[in-house]
Amino acid sequence: GVEISHLSKSYGDNLVLDDISISVKPGSVTALIGPSGSGKSTLLRCVNLLETPDKGTITVGTQTIEAGRKVKDRQLLELRRQVGMVFQSFNLFPHFSVLRNVAFPQEKILGRSREEAEARALTLLERVGLKDKAHQHPSRCSGGQQQRIAIVRALALDPRAMLFDEPTSALDPEVGIEVLAVMRELADAGMTMIVVTHEMSFARDVGDHLVVMAEGHIVEEGDPARIMADPREERTRRFLSAVL
Ligand code: ATP
Ligand code: MG
Repeated sequence: GVEISHLSKSYGDNLVLDDISISVKPGSVTALIGPSGSGKSTLLRCVNLLETPDKGTITVGTQTIEAGRKVKDRQLLELRRQVGMVFQSFNLFPHFSVLRNVAFPQEKILGRSREEAEARALTLLERVGLKDKAHQHPSRCSGGQQQRIAIVRALALDPRAMLFDEPTSALDPEVGIEVLAVMRELADAGMTMIVVTHEMSFARDVGDHLVVMAEGHIVEEGDPARIMADPREERTRRFLSAVL
């Protein structure tokens, strides 16, 4: 699982995350919602150390990172491998084919042979219905296809957990559905996931746990259906009435 414990982060004198603790059980899905600027992206970026937390600890599987202690390069690489991340923008390598996009990180990070990495890439691409795109460039793929490729690229590294930061918000709704379907399959297969999303039906149907953030704090957390039907906090109510 993923344990986030007493995490704090400031930019200058702007306290963006204030003592956040979240426990994501192995194989469970935590959905993270909250207004713009509440710190959701910063939280995910702290989990795989794209940002440096000021205080707290993060544990993923057997790896524990303590804020304030120097992280060895090897530990950082291992953490990045164990925690796959998918962003709103797909960040694919534009000059590589789809196949190379998925194979290259496996070769670089896991030391797999080109043959082995491409075989794994093809298996995963087939699973998301994109095997026929393998030899094209990402620019020839739709947004939804590119996002599925980004998911597969992270999965190919055999992560212990996946972080999603609004993976469908740059997509047309009907295309977003294809991406959400892949994420749902991943959840059903037992992947540990943290998903920042405004897709409330996904959060309710797929999420095991819902965390509502505002201004760097956790406002409310618990069963997604319960919170959506009967929010206990005024700030949750306000946020939900804006998105539901
Ligand atoms: P959104 O829903 O719009 O994506 P969010 O909940 O993901 O919002 P964050 O992006 O985590 O919010 O931002 C939280 C706060 O941190 C905001 O006040 C933002 O301005 C600030 N912030 C984020 N990144 C930086 C940065 N690199 N430097 C300075 N301030 C930052
Ligand atoms: Mg964000």
